[in-house]
Amino acid sequence: MGKLLIIGSVAFDAIETPFGKTDKILGGAGTYIGLSASQFDIESSVVSIVGEDFPDPYLQMLRDRNIDTSGIEIVKGGKTFFWSGKYHNDLNTRDTLVTELNVLADFNPIVPDNYKDAEIVMLGNLHPSIQLSVINQMEKRPKLIVLDTMNFWMDNTLNELIEVIKEVDVITINDEEARQLTGEYSLVRAAQKIHEMGPKYVVIKKGEHGALLFNGDNIFFAPALPLEEVFDPTGAGDTFAGGFTGYIAKTEDISFTNMKNAVIYGSNMASFCVEKFGTQRLENLTKNEIDERLQQFKTLTQFEIELT
Ligand code: AMP
Repeated sequence: MGKLLIIGSVAFDAIETPFGKTDKILGGAGTYIGLSASQFDIESSVVSIVGEDFPDPYLQMLRDRNIDTSGIEIVKGGKTFFWSGKYHNDLNTRDTLVTELNVLADFNPIVPDNYKDAEIVMLGNLHPSIQLSVINQMEKRPKLIVLDTMNFWMDNTLNELIEVIKEVDVITINDEEARQLTGEYSLVRAAQKIHEMGPKYVVIKKGEHGALLFNGDNIFFAPALPLEEVFDPTGAGDTFAGGFTGYIAKTEDISFTNMKNAVIYGSNMASFCVEKFGTQRLENLTKNEIDERLQQFKTLTQFEIELT
């Protein structure tokens, strides 16, 4: 079993969907990744920053799931990062209403000593120079570095983003972002171009339409589970990344064959995330529910065709 180092925001979110509205609740990419990966009973640590206003019970809830929080800096007198978003009726698109960086504006991540030898590193969506600084603090090259990013960094810090992309093994990105990054409409061509930028593996997420895994000429498709109830897609991408890296950390196998399973685990975890507001569903998830849903994934995709 490998150790998983996670970097990402730990935040307050306020969310509005066609089904309701929340006040400030627990959010942040690091939180979703950590909660999702913790289902794999691995050693993991979240590196992040919060303000003095961040309730200790939230940190305790992460610790109760065996997540090391010693890398979450608490800034005296500081305010925690706050993000607010409103989803449109299709739930695939959203408007960001508020982004208050607060303590995240001066975030200088410090990797805990006992995680400088982590085998797997998950770089959640943050400024690319922050992501690079984490890579540079590692004692030796991790077995696998996974990077998540978004269009905001392509618009504002493209050169730094290209620098960090060179250093990673896997990039997870959504379809529109892959197109923006490469200027290619075809996702196959976009993946080829991203390979040329560095990553051997490219995961392109397509929301409710699943995810594609590319590794050279190998392509694999993981569906998203058709769900009866979708309340809040916030954090689905991060939860996917947590499932993906949690499974890889548990198995320590970075072959394409195993990565296909990791993508399925990612989709599986994300399917739970969207069923309730915020982190609620992930906080109350059982192993049985995860296994039952994996079976549904198998049933959904298995078919027998005899080629004549
Ligand atoms: P996702 O739905 O996968 O895009 O992730 C949503 C989470 O990302 C929310 O919980 C936010 O707190 C967090 N988030 C939104 N914007 C940023 C940002 N600029 N930097 C870091 N985290 C962010």
